[in-house]
Amino acid sequence: MTGPDTTLALIGAGKMAECLIAGWVEAGFDPRAIAVTNRRNDGRLAELAGRYGVRAARDKATVLKGARVVLMAVKPADMATALEQVAPHLEPGAVVVSVAAGIRLADMARRLPGHPHLVRAMPNTASRLRQAVTALCAAPTCSPEASARARWLFDQVGATVEVGEEAFDAVTALSGSGPAYVYLLVEAMLEAARDLGLPDGVARDLAVWTVVGAGSMLRETGLPPAELRRQVTSPNGTTAAAIAVLEEMAVPVAVRRAVKRAAARAAELA
Ligand code: NAP
Repeated sequence: MTGPDTTLALIGAGKMAECLIAGWVEAGFDPRAIAVTNRRNDGRLAELAGRYGVRAARDKATVLKGARVVLMAVKPADMATALEQVAPHLEPGAVVVSVAAGIRLADMARRLPGHPHLVRAMPNTASRLRQAVTALCAAPTCSPEASARARWLFDQVGATVEVGEEAFDAVTALSGSGPAYVYLLVEAMLEAARDLGLPDGVARDLAVWTVVGAGSMLRETGLPPAELRRQVTSPNGTTAAAIAVLEEMAVPVAVRRAVKRAAARAAELA
């Protein structure tokens, strides 16, 4: 699956970088075509090299040599410095992709003057299982070939959608942070199951398959979530009793507020 066009440098070796590496290696990407670096944690580089067979180096020049895609996976606050360190070593045709919340294409362009091929992406950690959804937006200066090269990489680890940059704070709040909302719901379901006397292992299996099944129903039927919910809610039944409590406690209002707060936070990070 790899060739000269897919040699990849990852700047940042944290949680998001590892989820992407794991997905790409699982997809059949040659790990030797992936080079990774971080700021100072040598143990972490050795760990990623040992676990996935990727190349790891402390020196940015080494990691960036020949890279056709440069993936910036550092925290938003570290992005300016990281881009400045990358700038002198970029191959002219390389596409630079940032996955950082709140970092705009204009911010990237300021740190990489004269480099046209810039892409902003928002994946999520399900890339580890090749079930991510990644939103992408290329700078107007990015060549179609460079932007296709970036999109291809994310296609290997799940679904991709192209959106205008103005949508990125909303996307970050919905699908970037979204897995955590589902995990919170499952945590609460498991606590309730324990109170009801279900053994933990059984409760976990039931909750996990419930979430997987509900997700598959949403994806495969294409029906609106409200319709799917109506289908499993008989009047005066058990589900209706539960939903009444969630509505009394204003859970839908809280979720709407939470997603908007996440979007506002993404805008503040810029
Ligand atoms: P993380 O685990 O804290 O990892 C950040 C990495 O950046 C570390 O390896 C750090 O190295 C490295 N770093 C910082 N400055 C650097 C520099 N100048 N040069 C090279 N490496 C540098 O963070 P994360 O959760 O992976 O998040 C990374 C980015 O992904 C964030 O911008 C976030 O918005 C985005 N993102 C995350 C998720 C998610 O669910 N985690 C989802 C979508 C997008 P040291 O450890 O050596 O300091």
